[in-house]
Amino acid sequence: MAIIDGKAVAEKVYRQVRSQIEQLQVKFGRPPGLAVIMVGDNPASAAYVGNKEKACHQVGITSFRHHYPADVSQRELSSLINALNEDTLVDGILMQLPISNHLNAASLLQEIAPDKDVDGLHPLNLGQLVRGEVGLCSCTPAGVMRLLEDYQVPIPGRQAVVIGRSLLVGKPLALMLLAADATVTIAHSQTPDLAAITRQADILVAAVGKPQLITAEMVKPGAVIIDVGINRISTATGSRLVGDVDWQSVEPLASLITPVPGGVGQMTVAMLMENTLTSYINHNP
Ligand code: NAD
Repeated sequence: MAIIDGKAVAEKVYRQVRSQIEQLQVKFGRPPGLAVIMVGDNPASAAYVGNKEKACHQVGITSFRHHYPADVSQRELSSLINALNEDTLVDGILMQLPISNHLNAASLLQEIAPDKDVDGLHPLNLGQLVRGEVGLCSCTPAGVMRLLEDYQVPIPGRQAVVIGRSLLVGKPLALMLLAADATVTIAHSQTPDLAAITRQADILVAAVGKPQLITAEMVKPGAVIIDVGINRISTATGSRLVGDVDWQSVEPLASLITPVPGGVGQMTVAMLMENTLTSYINHNP
């Protein structure tokens, strides 16, 4: 078995994005800009936003942080999004989720101009994915596809099973695997015999959020295992992050497997940088 090194692939993406930005900003007269909207003081969100800003700095993207208190109104966020849609220094707009319950996140996400929707969550971009057209793609699924490509995993005709059907990960990833000619099955919380489905997978993706859901008896020997899950579990000395896959039992069976941390999570931010570069290029024809 071999371990997929998400950090190394992400670093490669950063180098490519950085070198393109270095060349393009001479021509375009400005660097790319990414606006990040954060609501409240959730420590996990603050850490994610911090990582994204660090990556922006690394590749030469200017980041603009818009941090609002948890009780910000829908109208205030809506007018910020409208202003950012018009701002010619901003190529990408990202709203860090989750946001406060009194806000309608879906409606705010729809207000982001589709050409600045670097998270790929606008209905237009999701619709383009369904139609197999080029658009801005959600970062985590795009990151999974890049890992498979980088490790030269053959996809056409292979059986891919995606566990999880969220709009953020499961559904778009299933569509991307389908577009790459895999035979795709989506399993979810109502799937009765999960193991019977997962054992058929040549490529098994877990995007659930349940530690140790996937155990050895659920995996076909030689399968490629992609663990999207991020779960914090308690340990004797504190806590640590684990995925959805029971690493101990599954890793010896897999031909390739992503670790948590150090796998898919690294790629999500890298794909955000690449999406911001794509919109920057689109904004400077
Ligand atoms: P979600 O809660 O929106 O969706 C979870 C999905 O799992 C649902 O579709 C549900 O039907 C399915 N599910 C729940 N219990 C199940 C079970 N017992 N058997 C089969 N399916 C089951 O979550 P999400 O936003 O899609 O995220 C999934 C996981 O991926 C989480 O752990 C999240 O933290 C992680 N995540 C990681 C990254 C990253 O960058 N690595 C990005 C986004 C999400």
